[in-house]
Amino acid sequence: MSLITLGILGGGQLGSMLSVAAKKLNVKTIIFCNDRDAPAQNFCDEFIHADYINKNKIYDFAKKVDIITYEFENIPFATLNELNKLKTVLPKPSVNRLIQHRLAEKDFINKLNIRTTRYVQVENKEDILPLKDFLPGILKTTTMGYDGKGQYPIKDLDEVDLLNIDFNKEYILEKLVKLKKEISVIITRFGKNRFEIYEPIENTHKDQILKHSKIPAEINSKLFNQSKEWAISIAEELKYIGTLCVEFFIDRNDNLYVNEIAPRVHNSGHLTINTHNVSQFENHVRAVCSLEQIKLRKIYNAEMINLIGEDILKYRENPKLDDNQFFFDYLKKEIKEKRKMGHLTILK
Ligand code: ADP
Ligand code: MG
Repeated sequence: MSLITLGILGGGQLGSMLSVAAKKLNVKTIIFCNDRDAPAQNFCDEFIHADYINKNKIYDFAKKVDIITYEFENIPFATLNELNKLKTVLPKPSVNRLIQHRLAEKDFINKLNIRTTRYVQVENKEDILPLKDFLPGILKTTTMGYDGKGQYPIKDLDEVDLLNIDFNKEYILEKLVKLKKEISVIITRFGKNRFEIYEPIENTHKDQILKHSKIPAEINSKLFNQSKEWAISIAEELKYIGTLCVEFFIDRNDNLYVNEIAPRVHNSGHLTINTHNVSQFENHVRAVCSLEQIKLRKIYNAEMINLIGEDILKYRENPKLDDNQFFFDYLKKEIKEKRKMGHLTILK
C-alpha cells in the first residue's frame, strides 16, 4: 500500500539513492530530469525526461505527485516556483534561489555572523585589477557551478588575460584559504528546533572534486561543536525542511569557515547509508514527506572513496569485496574523466 508519491527533480546518483531510501519507506518516486540517460531511472518508480522549462511536462509531473523535492540545486527558480503553486516543493524554492547564487549565499551566511572566505563580486575584467589583496584566489561563476566547474584559480593579475574568462557570466573572486582540512556537516531539519544532525565528516578533494570522506573527522572538539552549531543556525534561519549539507574549510590556524551550503543530500554523506541507523537520504524523505523522525544513531565509523572516471572499471570487472566493503555503481552509461561513476564505503 503506497500512500505518498514523491516527485524528485534531477536524476543523478543522488536521485537514485533518494529513490532507494523512499522505496524502503513505501514512498513512490517519480523522477523528472533533462538527461535522457539519467542514472536514477534505474531506481525510481517512474521517469519523466523533459527540459526543466517544458511547462506541459512540468504540469503533468505535478499532477502525478503529492510532494516535490530536488537532488540538484541548479533547477531554474521559475520552475520551482511554478511547481510550488501546484504542489508543495521542499526545501522551499526561495531557499534554493538564495543558495544557488554564490554571492547571495555568502552574504546570507555573513549576516548570521558566521565566517566565510573573503569574497568580492566581479562583473568584468577591469574589476579584478585592483583586487591584488584577494590573490591568490579563485574566480567562481556565481551560479551553475559544481565539482569545480566554472572555477579559475588565479595567482597573479597577469594571468587574468590568459584565462579566456567569459565575462558574460557573473563571478565572485574568493581569497584562497590555506587549507589544513575540509569537513562537512549534514543536518536534516523536520521543523522548528527539530532536527537530526550527523557528526562532522572529513573530506579530501582532488582537482576540486571530492575524492575521500571519513568519520570520525580528525578535528578538535571546538571545531566539532562549532561546525555543528553553525549548521544548525543556518538550517533554522532558512526554516529548512529536508537534508542540507554545510561544507567547511579549516585553515592552518584552526579557524573555521563556511565554504558553501548544499540545499540537498551530499556526496560526503554517502557513507551514512552504512554507518547510521537512518541515512541522509532516508532522513530527507522522512522530513519532506512528514514521516516519523527517528533518533539518529551511529553504528560504525567508515571511509568512503569516490570512484571517478575509469576508477570504476576495476570494481565493475571484479567486485571482490570484503564483508566491511560496500560498492555502489551509479550505472552511468558513459565513463568520462572527472565524472563520479560510483563509490566504495569501507566500515571501520
Ligand atoms: P563546488 O560548487 O564546485 O563544490 P566549491 O566552492 O566547494 O565548489 O570548491 C570546490 C573545492 O575547491 C573546495 O572543496 C576546495 O577544495 C577548493 N576551494 C574552493 N574555494 C577555495 C578557497 N577559497 N580556498 C581554498 N580552497 C578552495
Ligand atoms: Mg563544494
